[in-house]
Amino acid sequence: MNYIEAATSTWQECRSFLGRHPFAILPLGATEQHGLHLPQNTDSLIAEALALQVGRESMGMILPTIPIGYSWVWRDYPGSLTFSFDTFRAVIKDIVVSLDRNGCRALLILTTHGANPQPIKYASRELVDHTAIRVLRAFYPNLSQIMTDADSTTWQNSNFHAEEFETSLMLYLHPNLVDMTKAVSEYPPYSLAYEMSTLPMGALSESGVFGDATVATAKKGERWFNLCVANIVKVWKEFLGLPE
Ligand SMILES: [Zn+2]
Repeated sequence: MNYIEAATSTWQECRSFLGRHPFAILPLGATEQHGLHLPQNTDSLIAEALALQVGRESMGMILPTIPIGYSWVWRDYPGSLTFSFDTFRAVIKDIVVSLDRNGCRALLILTTHGANPQPIKYASRELVDHTAIRVLRAFYPNLSQIMTDADSTTWQNSNFHAEEFETSLMLYLHPNLVDMTKAVSEYPPYSLAYEMSTLPMGALSESGVFGDATVATAKKGERWFNLCVANIVKVWKEFLGLPE
């Protein structure tokens, strides 16, 4: 078996797996507003599905999805949860140290939430001199190439949220959780102040959507999901030194 799910396996199965393949995959999601048509666990569900498929097509012990991330920008939306930057960074570091002790030697941290890559990057940097585990981090590598057949444009500086891409992935993965009758298109006005101040992204939008959710389809979602998986598998295999 080239992958195993840690949460539903026994410690002995994990030991035997890591003895043969000392690699793991950690999906990091979020619980945060995704407009009126998507559930708050959108990022977590997508991260979980990607991690599982990447594991199936490459190698690794798949870890349980962490359902809360760094979501400061949505803190005024009821139900949206956030760790502080330092707490989230500490959570990542604690998980990496656990894996290091378990004999894991390479970890893919896979996130689908745009504010998570920074804490992941700094957590990995702080660990690199103290652990034997190598960390690779992925947030939709080459996304602009993947979305060449998108029907809408992304918001300011390639920011996207609850729009065509995420909604399409959810229509493919979990159609029962999407209410397209409530999907909207919203492009909040360009704001330089947003980039240069502490103005949260959440304050700019009426609906919570940044982009056009109305043009999402399950067919696009399927195509984009498979391309995302292929991209991540490619770089992860390369990182592990496995043949393509
Ligand atoms: Zn999202």
